[in-house]
Formats: sequence, structure tokens, C-alpha cells
Amino acid sequence: MNSPLLPEGATNQLIRMARMSMSAHAFSHSPPVIALDGCHLKSSDYTLLTATGIDANNEIYTIAIGIVYSECQETWNYFLKNLDVCLSLRENNDLVILSDREKGLAISVESVLPNSKHSFCLYHIGKNIKTKFKKNFNPELFKAAKAISLEAFNDAMDQIKEKDLKVYEYLIQITAEHWAEFCFGRCRFGNLTSNIAESMNSSLLVMRHLHPFEFIYQYVNQTYEKFQQKREEHTKHLDVFPQYFLNKISPLIEEARYLKVFTTDEQGTYRVGKDKSNSIFKIVNFEANSCSCLFISHNGFPCSHMIACILIRKGKLEDHVPNYFKTETLVNAYTTDFKFCDIESLKNTQLESMQKIHKRGRPKKKRIRTDAEKVFSCL
Ligand SMILES: [Zn+2]
Repeated sequence: MNSPLLPEGATNQLIRMARMSMSAHAFSHSPPVIALDGCHLKSSDYTLLTATGIDANNEIYTIAIGIVYSECQETWNYFLKNLDVCLSLRENNDLVILSDREKGLAISVESVLPNSKHSFCLYHIGKNIKTKFKKNFNPELFKAAKAISLEAFNDAMDQIKEKDLKVYEYLIQITAEHWAEFCFGRCRFGNLTSNIAESMNSSLLVMRHLHPFEFIYQYVNQTYEKFQQKREEHTKHLDVFPQYFLNKISPLIEEARYLKVFTTDEQGTYRVGKDKSNSIFKIVNFEANSCSCLFISHNGFPCSHMIACILIRKGKLEDHVPNYFKTETLVNAYTTDFKFCDIESLKNTQLESMQKIHKRGRPKKKRIRTDAEKVFSCL
């Protein structure tokens, strides 16, 4: 895969980009969500940047990794531009980025991936409130974030305002479109935090003492093995949906059996409620793939109201569920060939020929930085 970002002759980098494209196959068969995070490699002065996805079985997988001299807007720009080249992210109008919005990441996402929706991690916002104001506002924060109407959101925010004006003022400075469900405007598949990135970083703890080259070698090989295991495991599962999805959808199917469905004047649109006298109806619209309960737009699959309509219409549930929630797609996500990382080629990498990224500010006194201090590698 060629990249307009790379200088001519950067063969080793192109090889690594090719490795990254293999993980891109898993991404193209999974919900369009990417969690971004950075963590320090303990063995050196380098930082690891990770792009993590989540599959139909709610399991995390690696999309790409990068090793850079530090986490800042410049290195995130570099990482995201390369990610975009491999995954065509700018053309993906469903893309959601999850992050802790730290260290230049928010600006970088906005400039490199303007079509994406950037979701700020609620746990990190709550953690910042705890650090700044020494108070735990997580219950109130999550209530506001999960509100599905402007009215409900304002009610939740008013409660925060009554409790602590400074916390309220801090929160309104963070644009609600980045964290509040009612105005986020895109399906986050239930992810209000960047926990999937945190989980990925936790799984790497035991390797963080390794030299960067050794780290990449171990990491790629570990990922290769994981992909193989997942492929074998999911192939044995014979149901049309993976187990995690079955666990999510089963209670909704059960609930749907007790709902009453009424047709409306508009074709493909139904009113659904507990009984005929119940004034609280939800409106299901098959053409728009929506329900007024907003479950579908938040989670990406049918709610109990839509399932009740599907049952009445004698339809098939799988016809109304996106392919990336199905076992066949899940198996396919991990069927790509995956080459081992060649540590020798990494050792011989012409680091000097890579795109130069200058570090801003005064350099540390005891070390002289060279061009070789930026290493970027993707799976
Ligand atoms: Zn509904």
C-alpha cells in the first residue's frame, strides 16, 4: 500500500504500513469505532500510540500501533494521517473516535478526520472533576450524558448546577456534542467511555519494559496469535449471532413478546406499547431504521419495539441487524493472512529517511535527540 505521506524509498515504513492494512481488514468487518490512546514505554523515552477497535463479540482488537517520541498534536497528526491512508477514514461517515482528549488529540482528530464524531471519555471527564474539585460527580455526569432529550439533559445539568456551580461551569465548557447522547448525532454502540483503549493498554503492561523494537516484535506476534485463536473460536459458534450479541438481544426479544403493535397511516411505521390504553407509545419506522426510544440510534441494533414489529410481520431479525454484528462477519474479520513481524528489518530501518517530526520546546539537557528518535510502526 502506498502512502502520500511517506518519502520515496522509505521501504521499511511501507512494509509496516502493509502490516497495518491487514488489521484494516478486521476494522472493515467491525463497528466503525476507534479508541485512541497513548502510553509511555517504560524501557525508553518513547510513547506508544494505539488504535483499538471492538468486534461484534465485544472483544477488543488492535487496528494499529505507533511508537513516537512523545504524545502531542504533531505525533497524533502523523499517526492519524497514516491510519486514514490505510482505512480510508475520511470516507467513513459513520466513524466514531473515542478518546480521553488529552495532549493534542482533540485538535488532531478535528483536523485530520473532519468527518468523524469525537466522543470524549466520560470516566476521564469525571476523573478531571474529581482532581479539580475533589468531588465525585460521576452519577450526575452519566445521568446527563445518557439523557435522550434536550429537556432531560437540561434537568440533569440543573441538578449539577444546584449542587456545585463550579463543576457545572467546568462541564459546560466541554462541548456537549462530544459527550452528551442527545446531541452526539451518531451511533457510539453504547460506548460512552474510552475503556476499550484502557483495556488494550492494560493488556500491554507486561511488555512495556521491552525495547521498542522488541516490543513491536512481541506485540505483532501476540496479535497474530490472538487473531488465529479468535478465528478458530468463532468458527465453532454456529448461531447467526455471536454469544455477546445473543446475550444482549435475548432479553429484548422476551420483552417484545409482551408488546402490542398497531399500524399507522404511514407505510412501514408502527406504534408500539404495552397495551392499547397505554398512552406512551413508541414509533418504529422501518424505512428510517429508527424508533422514538432512540435505542437503535445509540446501540446500532433493533430495540424491543422494533423486534415486536418484526415478530408481527413474520420477518427475520437478522435482516434488520448490521452485518458486523453477525458471526459470519466476525469470523471473516480474523481470516486475513497475517505476516510475522521481522525484527531484523526493524533493526535496519532507515529511521533518518522518515518524515521528520521536530519536538517543540527546550530539549532535555542530558540527551541529544536525533532523527532516529521517532519510530513509527503499524501492524
Ligand atoms: Zn424502541
